[in-house]
Amino acid sequence: MRGILTRVVADNFDGVVVVDHNKSIRAASRLAEELLSPELRGTHIADVLPAPFREALDAALDSGRMMDAVSEVVILCNGERRTVEFVVTLSDVDAGEVSAQSAGRVACLTFRDVTERRQVEHRLTYLAQHDPLTGAASRVKFVETIGALLGTPTGRVRGASVYLIGLSRLKTVNDTLGHAYGDALLKQVVARLELSGPISVARLEGNAFAVLREGLLGEDGGVGFAETLIAEVVRPYTLDEHRAIIGARVGMSDSDLSGSAPDALVSHAGVALSIASDQSGNRALAFSKEMDTRIKSKQDMEIALRAALAREEFSVHYQPQVDLETGEVTGVEALARWTHPELGSVSPAKFIPAAEETGLIIELGRWILHAAAREVAGWPRPVRLSVNVSPLQFELGDIVADVRSALAQSGLPAERLQVEITESLLVTEASQITEKLRVLRAEGVGIALDDFGTGYSSLSYLGRLPVDTIKIDQSFVRGLPGDGEASAIIRAVLMLSESLGKHVVAEGIENQDQAWLLRLAGCRTGQGYFFSRPGPAQDILAQLLAAEHDRLTAVTRVG
Ligand code: C2E
Ligand code: MG
Ligand code: MG
Repeated sequence: MRGILTRVVADNFDGVVVVDHNKSIRAASRLAEELLSPELRGTHIADVLPAPFREALDAALDSGRMMDAVSEVVILCNGERRTVEFVVTLSDVDAGEVSAQSAGRVACLTFRDVTERRQVEHRLTYLAQHDPLTGAASRVKFVETIGALLGTPTGRVRGASVYLIGLSRLKTVNDTLGHAYGDALLKQVVARLELSGPISVARLEGNAFAVLREGLLGEDGGVGFAETLIAEVVRPYTLDEHRAIIGARVGMSDSDLSGSAPDALVSHAGVALSIASDQSGNRALAFSKEMDTRIKSKQDMEIALRAALAREEFSVHYQPQVDLETGEVTGVEALARWTHPELGSVSPAKFIPAAEETGLIIELGRWILHAAAREVAGWPRPVRLSVNVSPLQFELGDIVADVRSALAQSGLPAERLQVEITESLLVTEASQITEKLRVLRAEGVGIALDDFGTGYSSLSYLGRLPVDTIKIDQSFVRGLPGDGEASAIIRAVLMLSESLGKHVVAEGIENQDQAWLLRLAGCRTGQGYFFSRPGPAQDILAQLLAAEHDRLTAVTRVG
């Protein structure tokens, strides 16, 4: 028994150090010896263990109380700083069980190196909060900062103002000097905006930046400050031996004009900016209640979407998900399409947000779920169907009832349905949402986390979520094979997903190299233009059957 135990400790996957009541080390795992010191057994803890471990063991053995939670510390291992999680447990061993000399209280230190995981987490958080090119804050972060500012008592009294800066002629710079110079120029724009001493500078879109200041726009309606921002931004840029000049317009709003909702501040400043950009001459414009064009267009959009639902202008396209090993189509993702009688096809990037804003996504989502389930249930191949579900369908709609009725009416087995959710749904950590996810899962429906890496992805959080599949966002795949950081993140996500027992799908695979690299890294499933663009059911079905036919004839030929 003793031999077995020593062996089990030595072979342990974690760092394990067993200490007797004399504080002498009695057993250690190989990993512990690799990280701490090659000769642990027989030594006193004070001679070999780093301070945090020693103190925890001392405390546990002296007080007789175990640590009540896992701790995290940074220790020096072979000259390198490593982040480790550790815990100390106690066992009382009486002389009946072992030789008299071993009897007494025994403490066991278990630790795990989480350095890489924490690094990737920090990186992912950084990416969600910053624009990777310029280092400016992302929209998410910017809105959050406004919220934080207006959340304090002084912030509420003093107010906040947002200046949106739209750049023009950027395209000319990109076209004539190339994108590398365009990128360099954008970095300089951020540096110049920082000079104004704002609370935050963000890049909201390709050519739209935002500046947050404490205080209201002021007596001049913010024009004075806006003019200084413009003057900074339009000053000529030196890019190696080239000189470039761009134009700038500013739209602004403050918490008096827009209220204290951070989103409203940003979108009102955006309305003012779009009007400033349309009018000649007016280079800086503050939001006013009369600028209700956005509200109007929102109403127009709502009317158009309602009509589209009634007139059945929506349809579903499907994009295959492919086993990277065998090339076999294992599933399809349903993607909504809208063909407007006059406007032609409208991009989901436009109408999905509009449908979410107006709440119509609940009805539209239900329609798509039913239509796709009905269609795919009738296919001769049992591929899995993945359907995008908006957070609103969880929060305000009854997603569980919708899924049940779609399954019942179509006859599609629950195991063949998967819902795709975004991380924004999970950061709220609302228990009723997690509960709905658990109900769906208990009924056999799969849950996939879409666009992973673009939100507040926390890798350690991942283990606790009721999610079976992680879809790595296309922005990471796009960087392959050149982008070292993207591939490091992909590898880390794959490694961790495997240990958590989660399936990974890579999105946006556009070429053979990307497919090959992902497969090598251990990714099982891929989706992207390289395999197939999304298409109407009959096209995708034809592709599926043709591929199968090819495989069958190949087998027959070999046979
Ligand atoms: P998503 O769920 O991440 O879907 C993947 C998007 O990437 C699709 O865009 C697809 O056409 C595109 N895509 C696929 N392969 C490639 C590739 O190799 N390269 C590139 N550049 N793009 C690729 P799509 O159809 O425009 O949809 C955009 C987004 O709209 C979807 O992103 C999803 O978030 C949302 N959406 C679409 N249909 C629905 C729906 O029925 N309900 C909800 N709630 N959202 C939907
Ligand atoms: Mg999706
Ligand atoms: Mg996606």
